[in-house]
Amino acid sequence: MHIDKVHLTIKRACIFLVVITCLVIIDYTGFFQSFDNYFYDLSFRIRGNIPSLRGIILIKIDDKTLERLGRWPIKRSNYTHLINKIADARVILFDIVMTEPTEEDKGLGDVIKRQGNVLLPVLIGNNQTVKYPSVPHIMRNTGHVHIEPDVDGIVRGVYHTLTLNNISLPSITSVAYEIISGMPFKRQDIKQHSVRPGSIVQSDKMKINYVGGHDSFDNISFIDVIQGLYPPSFFKGRIVFVGLTATGTFDILLTPFQKERRGMPGIEVQANILNTLILGNAIRDVPAWLRWLFTFIVSTGFFIFFMGITERWAAISGLIFLLSVIMISYLSLTRLNIWIAPAVYCIGIFLTFMISYIYKFDDAVAMLGRAYKTLEPHLRWKGEKAGINNIREGLTGVLTKRGINTQIQVLTDVGRQMSFEKELTERALMSDIHGVMLFDHDGNNMLINELARDIFQGSNIDTYTLEGFIKSIHPHLLERPEPESVIEKICHEQTNAVYTLALSEKEKRYYKVDFSSFNVEGAGYILIIVTDITRIKELELLKGHIISVVSHELKSPMTSIQGFSEILSKNLTGKMQNFAAIINRESERLVRFLNTFLDITRIEEGRQPVRITPVNLMEVVKEVALALKPIGDTNHISILTEIPDKIDNIMVDRDLTKQCIFNLVENAIKYSPPNRDVIIRLEETGDYERIDIIDHGYGIKEEDLGRIFDKFFRSTSDKTKNIKGSGLGLTFVKEAVELQGGRLTLSSRYNEGSTFSIIFPKQKKTD
Ligand code: ADP
Repeated sequence: MHIDKVHLTIKRACIFLVVITCLVIIDYTGFFQSFDNYFYDLSFRIRGNIPSLRGIILIKIDDKTLERLGRWPIKRSNYTHLINKIADARVILFDIVMTEPTEEDKGLGDVIKRQGNVLLPVLIGNNQTVKYPSVPHIMRNTGHVHIEPDVDGIVRGVYHTLTLNNISLPSITSVAYEIISGMPFKRQDIKQHSVRPGSIVQSDKMKINYVGGHDSFDNISFIDVIQGLYPPSFFKGRIVFVGLTATGTFDILLTPFQKERRGMPGIEVQANILNTLILGNAIRDVPAWLRWLFTFIVSTGFFIFFMGITERWAAISGLIFLLSVIMISYLSLTRLNIWIAPAVYCIGIFLTFMISYIYKFDDAVAMLGRAYKTLEPHLRWKGEKAGINNIREGLTGVLTKRGINTQIQVLTDVGRQMSFEKELTERALMSDIHGVMLFDHDGNNMLINELARDIFQGSNIDTYTLEGFIKSIHPHLLERPEPESVIEKICHEQTNAVYTLALSEKEKRYYKVDFSSFNVEGAGYILIIVTDITRIKELELLKGHIISVVSHELKSPMTSIQGFSEILSKNLTGKMQNFAAIINRESERLVRFLNTFLDITRIEEGRQPVRITPVNLMEVVKEVALALKPIGDTNHISILTEIPDKIDNIMVDRDLTKQCIFNLVENAIKYSPPNRDVIIRLEETGDYERIDIIDHGYGIKEEDLGRIFDKFFRSTSDKTKNIKGSGLGLTFVKEAVELQGGRLTLSSRYNEGSTFSIIFPKQKKTD
């Protein structure tokens, strides 16, 4: 990874961790409490009622009771009656404060004593004074009925122990639980001395697992019991709560079930508390440290995940994760009685999504900046139009003048310019000056202009695929390359190539076919530009024709000059003989030049007669070696032949082939210093017969290799430029070899030597 990228990743990871830490701190301050509470209550309402303990029964002092017994508070003798009626109950809990002494306390105290398990509430006064019931005999079976709602007024939990003024006060329900279970209630150890005077320490908090809303427990009317509507056996072994429900006589407590703000009387809340205690299904909180640890782990996991996928998938999966968290939270509350407060996770996921989104956005903006920087040098306006030279990358750039606005402006400029360029290119390409075709990397035609279509349509040339095109133009190419080698060169080596095409429909027309390849983002394309060069070609032919006529006319007098100067040089003496010999040598050279030139012209004009017969190349090679031996000897060069014992005859023109080998061996001698052997090697390989003419002479410069077969081309090398020659010999050899269906190749190293090879296929292809 690039070092800048590592820095950026570390920076981003740090920012992310800081954000998540802030989230945890905010959670610690209770900021998300209301969201969590809302969802907590909602989960209860969605869950609905669960079965309550059948053993719990509520006796309500309701409107009907007060109608009969008079206004509240009712006489305590009524409670005495009641306890007598329900004496068989397991426990009787009064949610009615009886701290004010009355005359009837004694009677009540007696029945309470007899019953044994009657619990009366203790009241905590304003100035932290504990007020016990005024009824005698109840000192042991007492407890507080204090219930403290959360900040939003909803009662979700209860403290089972209150510690104040050296007194540890149990809740009335925890005392009932001790009686029912026969086991002491496990309380947290609160040291009295740690409690400041005047304050109350609340401990042993329990979250109430409400069985449902109002009226979830079996309940009956106080008056009905007193009037004996229920036999004593009805209450046998049951847990009885006695409390007020009559309108306007009690504090309405709100519970998670009371969405519509219908309160629940204290007696029902107490019943829910005892129900939770007996069933042992109090809602437990996940410890805060574990929640925060999880927040870190979950957020980091999501962060890595979100960074790895697209924004769309991140948004979809983020939503799924949010719902999953809420679902898990709901299920763990309702099925396992464990409360996983979801707010911190939900906000964690949301923040994680946002941060990853911002980072991706930052990357995209940075990419935009970089795209601009790449494009900028190609802009005709060079950014002057925008007047901005330094674009700032990334999100920080967005916030500045040099940021995204400028980039957008510049990109708009770029877009405009691109359409301009496109229009320009299209006009140039589609104009009918050149035929244009474009093939994609699979060789399929992507574009063809009208002119190209016109040129090729009439001549049955395939323009759909590159391969088809090359194969179908092949017979019409003047250069006559092998179609396979053209395909190899253009498609695989991706080198540019130019060929001349001669098409004759009504009249003969010549075209230059220019193949060029280019790459765009890893994909290769082949562009073909076809130019009509008929005029030029015609002029060239005319020129060639004129020269050949002139050459022809020159040839007869030159031959006479050569013949007569030879006779003269033999008959004259002294200086005159010398002059005659020079005339003879030079005229001989000129005749040879004219002959070669006329040979080439004949081939080019298709007038060269080719007499294909079975030829044994062994003989030809031997004849050439013998004929050139004298020149070789003069130059101190031996001509060695490497010939196989036996070789098949091959169908070629004997004289032309001999002339070609002759020219090449002559060149090999000419361009070698003395004492370097020349080798003529004849080989039969597979489908070919091949003649290599190998010398160890001056060799050819690399830059000359491409033009060596051009007409009149002579190498610029210092060592060879003074050697006389016309630059026509190799042109002739090449054209003569190709005329017979063969190939001429060359490999040469400057100052080391050259190898020219004539390769004839044994089986001639018919074009
Ligand atoms: P020329 O009449 O000049 O020899 P050719 O067409 O035969 O014409 O050769 C063209 C050029 O190629 C020569 O001028 C020479 O520089 C170069 N050449 C040809 N054959 C050889 C060779 N065997 N070694 C080095 N250079 C050669």
